[in-house]
Formats: sequence, structure tokens, C-alpha cells
Amino acid sequence: MIRGLGPKKREMLKNIGIEQDKDLLFLYPRQYDDRSKKIRIRDAVDGENAFMTLTITSQPHTRYLRRGMRMTRAHATDGTDFITLVFFNQPYIANRLKMHTPYDVYGKIKRSGRGVELTNPVVENRGTEKMGRIVPVYPLTKGISQNDMLSFTGQAVALYAKDLPEILPQDLRDARGLIGLAEAVETMHRPASMDALRTAYQTLVYLEFFVFCAGMQMRKARNKTQHAPVIPAGEAEELISSLPFRLTGAQRRALAEITEDMASGSPMNRLLQGDVGSGKTIVAFLAIYQAFLAGFQSVYMAPTEILARQHHASLMNLMRFRGLRQELLLGSTPQKERENMLRRLQNGATDVLISTHAALGEGVQFQNLGLAVTDEQHRFGVKQRAALSQKGENPHVLVMSATPIPRTLALLWYGDLEISTIDELPAGRIPIETIVITREQEARMAEFVNTNIDRGRQAFIICPLIEENEELALEAVETLYARISQTFFRHRRMDFLHGRLPAAEKEAIMRAFSEGKLDILVSTTVIEVGIDIPNANVMAIYNAERFGLAQLHQLRGRVGRGEHASYCILLNEGETEEAFERMRIMQSTNDGFVIASEDLKMRGAGELLGARQHGMPVFTIGDLHRDRSLFEQAKADAAELLGEDPKLDKHEHRWLRQRITEKFSEVGQDIILN
Ligand code: ADP
Ligand code: MG
Repeated sequence: MIRGLGPKKREMLKNIGIEQDKDLLFLYPRQYDDRSKKIRIRDAVDGENAFMTLTITSQPHTRYLRRGMRMTRAHATDGTDFITLVFFNQPYIANRLKMHTPYDVYGKIKRSGRGVELTNPVVENRGTEKMGRIVPVYPLTKGISQNDMLSFTGQAVALYAKDLPEILPQDLRDARGLIGLAEAVETMHRPASMDALRTAYQTLVYLEFFVFCAGMQMRKARNKTQHAPVIPAGEAEELISSLPFRLTGAQRRALAEITEDMASGSPMNRLLQGDVGSGKTIVAFLAIYQAFLAGFQSVYMAPTEILARQHHASLMNLMRFRGLRQELLLGSTPQKERENMLRRLQNGATDVLISTHAALGEGVQFQNLGLAVTDEQHRFGVKQRAALSQKGENPHVLVMSATPIPRTLALLWYGDLEISTIDELPAGRIPIETIVITREQEARMAEFVNTNIDRGRQAFIICPLIEENEELALEAVETLYARISQTFFRHRRMDFLHGRLPAAEKEAIMRAFSEGKLDILVSTTVIEVGIDIPNANVMAIYNAERFGLAQLHQLRGRVGRGEHASYCILLNEGETEEAFERMRIMQSTNDGFVIASEDLKMRGAGELLGARQHGMPVFTIGDLHRDRSLFEQAKADAAELLGEDPKLDKHEHRWLRQRITEKFSEVGQDIILN
């Protein structure tokens, strides 16, 4: 029983994920206030947080400011100097503070010509447990105060911490200098020193990583024991030599890895990552061709209809006269056509299905699915990836990503996938030049675009990013289109593209653009992924500061795909340091891997990978970037432990096993351990 925690507050705690009293143990503080050392006014440094004991020397006085604001001031001393305490909108403080009485005070020091001040400090009677120590600051929710949290977590620790089962084996903890779980949890809530706090966090972060890595490794091991279609290497060479270009070394390596997997007899689970324009599609097509030669069906799932159509067309082109029967299934495919298509698919009269999310539909059944490819996989969730492979009996799975991420992060994030990386662009690509301008220089951008159109090129113009609101985004693109098509580009052939347009219309516009019938395409980010139009050489992006680095890089990757020198013009309207930093990074490199790691530094891994929405277990306290080496340690240790006890059957590993099962079921993933 936790005192002070009635039904009402219990309900409110649910908002921050606390369902049971025990959950309070794992409510991680947002930060810690080091109120352990007492500071004298004389020594107080501007901008620092300080804990002081102060005696009030003047009667607190409240004044009314503008808009109903109230300010209460009081003077105080600790014998070394004077200080002013300032409180906003806390009129009751005037009655609480007694003259000539010492209080423990904590707040941020402001030292200026006018003297020393504390604004909205925490004031406590002397000697409470909230001062003279390191105090955790908890995330709050409506109706729950910091004092409530301190009291609740304190009680929870006293009641439940000692019963926490030990998850990590003792010898491992000793070897890594970690402490027991109960002690770590207790320290996290009531740290005796900053050093102790560090050790507690090391322990908790390591544990979180360990559980994740062990779970991923177990899942991977389970996959290995399953039987998959055997697709022998086949005769792809003849097709390869008929290509209008030579495969890069990296493409060949990736293909060889895929080929080996598909011939192995156990299911392939492979991520193919490579920068935009590195030529992932052809590698996937060649894998599909091998599956076809071996008599298996394939499915290729793209994130948008535009892309699916594009791939359908280029696969058709590639496979001419080779007897490969393909179909294009879209959400917009008419019912009748769809039914016929699905019948052929089920009869085995179709070899390859090119599709979008529509491929996941119930009616979509294969006769013998051998290979499932997901393009731009970051657009899909883990569950969708899994759903696609459910369409066959352990088909080989290839997922492709153009958000290249550093290998170590990829290994972690896609812990159950093998990874092939295309780290080489086709020869002859001219690096894209990136130019950052301000909104005032819009006319110069337009002039530049016009010059390039005069030379026979085409341009993309991307309108500002409007998050989560299709209506507003549509308005934005229409407005921009209307304005620039009547001013700078009055004599140009142009159109605009938006996610809300009917599929047929979108396709018609894209086709017109790719056939050179339009000079300029104004668009939202629907063109972000995959589109391949080699004649387009200028990409201009309005409000570039609103886009993330990875997204800017994707957009930029729409140009520079042909033999023409290409340009990316970023109209930066942002004033913040961060906006400038992002523009600087975009200008300084074209390397998607470098950009991804910068993005990682600026935004954190979860943000970069869209963690939650994609159903991956998220780290609550571990930070992949900051705690990288700890992660690698945990991963290696997990592998070693699983080497000795692959299914965690040993009695001493039962809590670890349980924790892994819990962790993965939180995100709807079964770790079938047997
Ligand atoms: P992404 O990896 O971004 O999906 P694509 O597969 O769309 O890239 O390839 C981009 C362009 O490069 C396409 O026009 C493709 O035909 C071309 N391409 C692919 N491989 C090569 C190569 N080895 N040499 C030259 N061009 C290539
Ligand atoms: Mg692609």
C-alpha cells in the first residue's frame, strides 16, 4: 500500500504508463538536482543551480504586473551577502515565508549588476529530505506533483525493490563492474552520490541493451532453424551482361550475398542498404529473376503507387522476352481486375507481383512465394514486413532502405537481419552541388531554374513541409504553384503533385514529367522516395529548415541520377543555430551515411528511425549514440551467454528469459523460445 495514492491519482499515473505500484520502480527521473552541496551567496556563480540556507530579511512583497501576472519579492541572506528571491504567480509564498527564519532554498543563480537573484526557487523548511542531497526530478502528469512522485517512488522502493529478481548472472555483473538490480533501482531513485548514480545507470542501461540483444539473437537463431525454398544461383549472368550499364562492385557483392542466402535452405532475412541512387532496385530484380528461374514467385512491395508503377515498368523493360509474367496490384486496382489478378497469382500463373500495401490484403495468396522484397522499408513497420512473409512458407525476405545508417546502428536496429551495404555509387555520377539561400533570394533560385530548363533540363520544386495535415499540405502546394507559375515561371510547362490527388492523376502527372512534357514539378514530399528521372537536375526546397536531414538527403537524391551536373537549392528560412547547422551539413557532404550519423547526433536514434511508430522495442534509458560502447559490450556478452544456453533453459536464466519475453511482447512481437 502506498500512502497518499488514492484512486484518483492512480488513474492519473496511468497517463505515464504506471498501472501498478511496482511500475513506479521503473519510472526514470528526467534529471537530478544536485542539492547535496551547500553554496554560499558570496561564491554563487551566475547560471548555476545552487542549494543554500537563507534567512528572510524583508517582508515578502507582491506586485501586480501586466496580464494578471503577480510577482512576489523577498530579500534574504546567509551572512556572506544578500540575495533577492523572486516568485511569479505564487502569492501564497508571502504568507509562508517567515521573517528571520532560515530556509533551505534551491534554484538557479542570476548574478548581475543589480545583485544576486533566485527566480522561482524551491523553498523548504530546514532539514527535509528534499535538500542536502541529490534529488530526482520525475516526469509529471496532470494532478501529480513532484512531491507526490518523490513520496510514491520512495515508498515503492522501500516496499518492492528488494523483491526484484536478479536478471543478469552474478559473474557477468562482476566482470562488467555492474551492481544488482535492486540496488540500481534504489540508487536511481535515491542516489547517495553522483558516482553511485553513474554505476546505477550503467547497470540499468546495460541491462536494457542486454535484454534487447539477447532477444534479437534468439529470434535470429530461431529463423535459422527453419526451412526455406532452395533457390540455386541460376543463370543471371546473361541478364547482367545485357544491362545498359555494368554493376558496381558493391552491387555484385550484395547480389552474391543474397544469392548465397537464397540457396542455403534456410530463410534469408537481409537488409540491403545503400545511399539514394546506389542502384538497389536492379539488385532486387536480379534476385527476383533467380527466384523465377528456380520456379518460385516473388512479391515486391513499394511504399507508394507511383513507385510501384515505376518499378513495374522498369521490370517489364528489363525482362522483355524472358517469359516472366508480372502483375501490378494497387489499392486503386478495380475490383474485377483485382479478382482476376489474384486468381492468377494463386494458380501460379503470375511470377512476380509488384504492389504497395495492397499486397498485404487478405485475398492476396501465392502458390509458391519464394522471395518477398520490401522497398524503402522504413516506410513500413516491422509487423507489415512480417505480414508479407506470412504470405508464403518461410519465403526469403529482402528489405531495402535508402536511409542508410551506420553499420553498427543497423546491426542493432535490425538485429535479426543480415546486412548488405552498397557503399559505392555507379561510376560517372557527378556529385550534386548544394546551395543554401534565404527566402529573399527566391528570384535568383528561379533564374537558376530557368537557365537549366533552357538547357533542356527539368526541375523539382518542393513546397514547405506541413506535418500530419494533408489538407493544409494541399493548400500549401496549390498556393505555391499558383504564385510561381504566374510569376517566375509563366512561360514554363508545369504541374503539381500531392498525396491527395487520385492515383490516376498522380500517375499521369508523373508520366508527363518523366517523358519531358513538363519542365517543373511542384510537389510535396510524395516524390521523396525512389522516383527516378535522370533528366531532372535541379531540386529546390522551400522552408528547408522544416525538414530533417535524412529527408533533405532523400529529396536531394531525386536529382543527380543522370549524366548532368545537378543542384539542390535549399531555401532556408530558419534562424536557429540548429537550422544553420543542418544546412551546413547538407552543403558539406553528399554521403548518406555521414548525414545519417549527423542526424543521429542531432535527433537521437529513436527519432531518426521513427522507432515507436515502427514497432521496434524502444530503449527507455539507453541511448544508442551516447552509450554505444556499452551496447556493443552487452551485445557480445549476450552472444556469449546464448552460446552456452541458447534457449535460456537453465534455471539461473529464467528471469532473463521472462524479461525478454515481456519486452518483445510489449511491441507485439513473439519471441518463440522453443
Ligand atoms: P536506389 O538505390 O536509390 O533505389 P535505383 O535503384 O533507383 O537507386 O537506381 C538509380 C539509377 O541508377 C537507376 O536509373 C538505375 O537504372 C541506375 N543504375 C543502377 N545501377 C547502375 C550501375 N551499376 N551503373 C549505372 N547506373 C546504374
Ligand atoms: Mg529505390
